[in-house]
Amino acid sequence: MPNEIGQETLERLIRDYRPYTKQGAVAAYIPELAYANPHALGIAAAGADGSILKAGDADTSFTLQSISKIITLMVALNDCGPERVFSKVGMEPSVDPFNSIVKLETLDHKKPLNPMINAGAIVIASLLSGGGSVDARLQHLCDTVSRITGRSSIRFNEKVYESERRTGDRNRALAYFMKSTGIIDSDVDVEKTLDLYFKACSLEVDCVDLAKIGLFFALWGKCVESQTDGTCSTKEIVTPEIAQIVTTIMITSGMYNHSGEFFLKVGLPAKSGVSGGIVAFSPNRYGFGLFGPAIDAAGNSVAGVKMLEELSRSHRLHLVSPH
Ligand code: GLU
Repeated sequence: MPNEIGQETLERLIRDYRPYTKQGAVAAYIPELAYANPHALGIAAAGADGSILKAGDADTSFTLQSISKIITLMVALNDCGPERVFSKVGMEPSVDPFNSIVKLETLDHKKPLNPMINAGAIVIASLLSGGGSVDARLQHLCDTVSRITGRSSIRFNEKVYESERRTGDRNRALAYFMKSTGIIDSDVDVEKTLDLYFKACSLEVDCVDLAKIGLFFALWGKCVESQTDGTCSTKEIVTPEIAQIVTTIMITSGMYNHSGEFFLKVGLPAKSGVSGGIVAFSPNRYGFGLFGPAIDAAGNSVAGVKMLEELSRSHRLHLVSPH
């Protein structure tokens, strides 16, 4: 049985790996993200027993960015079913950057490779954006995140959203291109879809929220609720089958075009975002939330990935292990 994670472990990780923040840079292509402190570093761990540990800048708020893609995928699977979802988006990892357009034209089926690259997530947003206002659709996503994290309200960061909307021409190009090839249905309002996508990317969380999201997937779609008598119970939000699909996609595609290397070294399902957040989890045991806005060329937090490598090694969390 792997040893338990303690407060000292998390403090040590922050101490030992903060120097690695110097090796990355904050994302600047969304201008508002460039204001983040490049040396910030936080980590939280949520245990299946309801315990929460945190260290470093774990209380700092940041936007989900691409981490929102696991939430929108899950909601789409729940609302539309896997068959419809995977008629629009593939299941294969991508060796191209997250915002690449190239494969949309060269692949026979025209589908984005997977739901974790921007094109795939925009298609997913198109499935969610029909019927009802963008705000009602967004509220559905926020309510899901609220239930998982136990936070009374989840909001989007207006400045980050505006910044994304103003500078989002590449995403706009992906969306209109996919409408031209019929991947986005002809009756879909592309601007509404993009609005939902940008707002979902701008939802604000902290490391503890991410750790709880990780734990929710670790428990196969159940969130942990504390009772008034101090005990905990779990509540199913999506079926284990849906959690299993999202988990598998996280393993194959969650860390952009470094997903293979990440899984080899860390061996945990994870999803990162260009704001520097990473959600990861050890099935049935822990959820982890990390934040370190200095990212590498692929879009992953440099120090965040290093901390997960160390945590996986020291606590034998790798899912493919001879021990
Ligand atoms: N909102 C970002 C974009 O569309 C998300 C990218 C990311 O976190 O990978 O470019």
